[in-house]
Amino acid sequence: MGERIMTAINLGLVGIGKIVRDQHLPVLQAHPDFEIAAAASRNATVDGTHNFKTIEEMLDAMPDLEAVALCMPPHVRYPAARIALERGKHVLLEKPPAACLSEIDDLTGLAAKAGRTLYATWHSRHAPAVEEAKALLAGAEIRAVDVQWKEDVRKWHPGQAWIWEPGGFGVFDPGINALSIVTHILPRPFFLKRAVLEFPSNKDAPIAARLHFADTTGMPVDAAFDWRQTGPQTWNITVETADGTVVLSHGGAKLTQNGKVLNEAPEAEYRTI
Ligand code: NAP
Repeated sequence: MGERIMTAINLGLVGIGKIVRDQHLPVLQAHPDFEIAAAASRNATVDGTHNFKTIEEMLDAMPDLEAVALCMPPHVRYPAARIALERGKHVLLEKPPAACLSEIDDLTGLAAKAGRTLYATWHSRHAPAVEEAKALLAGAEIRAVDVQWKEDVRKWHPGQAWIWEPGGFGVFDPGINALSIVTHILPRPFFLKRAVLEFPSNKDAPIAARLHFADTTGMPVDAAFDWRQTGPQTWNITVETADGTVVLSHGGAKLTQNGKVLNEAPEAEYRTI
């Protein structure tokens, strides 16, 4: 039998900002399967690698790059993903993966044609108690779901103008993390029935949202997203079942059933991404 020799994947990081510094860099630097071969960002660089201003310059100069991680805001991700797939690269998309579904449809088709991986991170699905919550709910009689995703925008998004611009998603930037978990752990699809969004008078994206969904059986799923929360932050999903109350809290890091802790672990989402 021949021996298979694995070499690290040559990766280019694009859009060097908060999430790259907080998560991608430390996780990749500690991982033997990845080599940060290049970075592309208009105003930032990564120490110890080849740096470029644009993804085009990076791809031209580094033909051996195998994959790119696109970590810029969602409304400018599509053209970068398209050019990377056209050049035969595997592509990781930070969340939300694109500005709209038709962009994702197009990228999915391009990736299939090129035979390359298109991977949307949905990092909150990697939170430690999410899989156990899904297993617990798979056989449960679920009566209602309530999502409370409330955080302080000043703390988590200081100076980020793009979140308030069209395509920046506003409070849906964190809210989509809740939806990524709920769509994963509930056994049936659910559909939006009604929504109330609150916009600051000088912004183009919402600061708060109340959403009312129903699943295929009519079971209600209600969600409240709010960016004005000061003090303790709330990232909770409460599921009322015939066997009692299941709470997935701390953004998916803690699971309780009728108050009993079933799973609690420190955050480690990006290591499994
Ligand atoms: P960020 O720091 O504001 O943006 C990342 C970088 O993207 C910027 O530093 C900027 O670098 C580049 N960029 C390219 N085009 C841009 C444009 N038109 N407007 C603004 N920046 C642009 O944001 P982030 O917090 O890292 O978030 C980036 C993505 O990761 C978002 O989709 C977000 O939802 C996701 N995410 C963020 C977090 C978090 O905790 N922050 C967690 C998980 C996922 P240059 O100016 O150097 O080009």
